[in-house]
Amino acid sequence: MSMNTQGRPTAPKVDAAQDGSFESFSGHRGLRMDEPLIFEIGSLNRTGVDFDDIDLDTPSLGGLKRDEAADDLTLPGLSEPEMVRHFTRLSRKNYGIDMGLFPLGSCTMKHNPRLNEKIARLAGFADIHPMQPQTTVQGALQLMDQLGHWLKTLTGMPAIALSPKAGAHGELCGVMAIRAALVARGDARSVILCPESAHGTNPATAALCGYKVKAIAATDSGHVDVDALKAQLDDTVAGVMITNPNTCGLFERDLKDIADAVHAAGGFLYCDGANFNAIVGKVRPGDLGVDAMHINLHKTFSTPHGGGGPGSGPVVFSEALAPYAPLPLVVETADGYALEENGDADSSSFGRLTAFHGQMGMYVRALTYMKSHGRDGLKQVAEDAVLNANYLLARLKGALSASFEGPCMHEALFDDRFLKGTGVTTLDFAKAMIDEGYHPMTMYFPLVVSGAMLIEPTETESKVALDQFADSLLGLAQAAKAGEVDRFEGAPYFAPLARLDETRAARQPVLKWQVAAE
Ligand SMILES: *Cc1c(COP(=O)(O)O)cnc(C)c1O
Repeated sequence: MSMNTQGRPTAPKVDAAQDGSFESFSGHRGLRMDEPLIFEIGSLNRTGVDFDDIDLDTPSLGGLKRDEAADDLTLPGLSEPEMVRHFTRLSRKNYGIDMGLFPLGSCTMKHNPRLNEKIARLAGFADIHPMQPQTTVQGALQLMDQLGHWLKTLTGMPAIALSPKAGAHGELCGVMAIRAALVARGDARSVILCPESAHGTNPATAALCGYKVKAIAATDSGHVDVDALKAQLDDTVAGVMITNPNTCGLFERDLKDIADAVHAAGGFLYCDGANFNAIVGKVRPGDLGVDAMHINLHKTFSTPHGGGGPGSGPVVFSEALAPYAPLPLVVETADGYALEENGDADSSSFGRLTAFHGQMGMYVRALTYMKSHGRDGLKQVAEDAVLNANYLLARLKGALSASFEGPCMHEALFDDRFLKGTGVTTLDFAKAMIDEGYHPMTMYFPLVVSGAMLIEPTETESKVALDQFADSLLGLAQAAKAGEVDRFEGAPYFAPLARLDETRAARQPVLKWQVAAE
C-alpha cells in the first residue's frame, strides 16, 4: 500500500472492470444509486396529493379538459416521497461549491456565506411581491437604495441600474444605453471593438444590439494591444468592450489611456466588470474613464450561481450615460422611498429591462456580504483572491505550463504544453480531476492561448484546501509525464457516468420520455 504526502495510506486503485463485476440485486451500488429520468418512473395515474374526485369534464388547464390535458402534457405523476427521493438522488450526483473546491476560472465559484441565506429568508424580504403598494415595502426599497449606494461608491460611478439579471444581461443593458445615447445625438455608429481577451458574451452582446464586432488582437503578454485598438478608432465606432481584469487573469493597465482615446473618437467605453472581485476596494473603474460596467453579484458579492439562475448583474453608469439608464430607479422622496417608473420629463431612459425590479433575494445577500465585510474587509477580499491565485500559480508553474510570465490577478492561466508527447489530452486531464474529487478548471478558454486551463480558487479557500488541490494536480501532471495513460484514458472512473458525448448531449438532449400508462 502506498502513502500519500501526508503519510496516510492511499486507497488501492480500483479497477473499473472489477468495480462492475459484482452486481447488486437492486441495481444500486451502495450509495451510488441509479436514477432514471422522471418520465421513466412517473405515471399518469399517480399523484402526490389526494384531491376530492373532480369532474373530468370541467375544463381546466388552459381550457382543456383534465384527461385531455393529461394526455397532452404527459406530466409524470409520483408520490411525494418518490418525488423527493428522485430530486435528492439527482442532487447528490451533482458537484457544488458546498462539496469541494470549484476552480472554474472566470466564473468565481466562491462560498456563499450562510449569514446571507439567513437574512434573505427574513419574511420582510422573502415574502413580498413586486406589485405590493410601495408604502408596504419601504424596507426593501431602502435596501435596494443602500445596495446601489455601495456599488456606486465602490466603483466611483454616479448612476446605477439594479435590474439586470446576470452579467450578460448587464452587458445588454450597458450597450442599449450606449445605443440610446448615440441615437439621442443623431449619431449612427455601427461598430463595437472587442479584444480577443474579452469574455465571449461581449461580442455576442454587441451583435445582439445590431453592431458589427471587430476583434482587437492581444499582445504576447496577454493584454489588449493598445496600438491596434487605437488604429481601429474612427467615427463608426460606437464603443469598446473591455474585460478588466481580463480573461487571462491580468489587469489591463492601459485602461485610462484607452478610455481617453475612445472618448476623443466620440465612442463609449464599456467595461466587463464580472471580475470585480479581483479589484474591489483597490481601484474605482469610474476613475479610469469607464462609461458603463456590470458587476456580477453572484461572483464578487458571493450570491449563489444557482443552476443557471438567479444571477444578478447591476450596471453602473458614468455622467454621460446616466440619463439613458433603464427604469425604474429607486429614489428617496419626502414621503420615503419610491420606484420612479416613468422618469422625469426630460428622462432619456431606453425604457425597462425586466418586468419587475430585479433579483430581490440577491440584493439582500449581496448587501449582507458587503456589510459583514465592511470597506476594509472588501479590500481584503480582493487581496486574498489575488493571493490565493498566485499561490496556486507558484505551486503549479513548475509542472503545468503557465501561459504568461509574472504574477496574475484572481485567476491563473495555464495551457496544455506540459502534456505534449504524453498521449494524455487536455480533456483527459480535466476528466481525471473528477476522479480526484474536483470539478475541472475552465478548459479551452480564453481563446488567446491554445489548450487553456484557467484556475480561479477565490478568496474563500484555505491554505490547506489549496495545498490538497495543488498536490492532486501535481500528482496528475507527474502521472501523465510518467506515461500512466490508463489513469486518464477512461477517466472519470469514480463518477456516476463516465465519458459522455457532450456535443450530442447539448445538440440532441433527451428531455422527455413517452410515459407508459400504468
Ligand atoms: C461570468 C462572466 C460573464 C457573464 O456573466 P453571467 O452572469 O454568466 O451572464 C461576462 N463576462 C465575464 C468576464 C465573466 O466572467
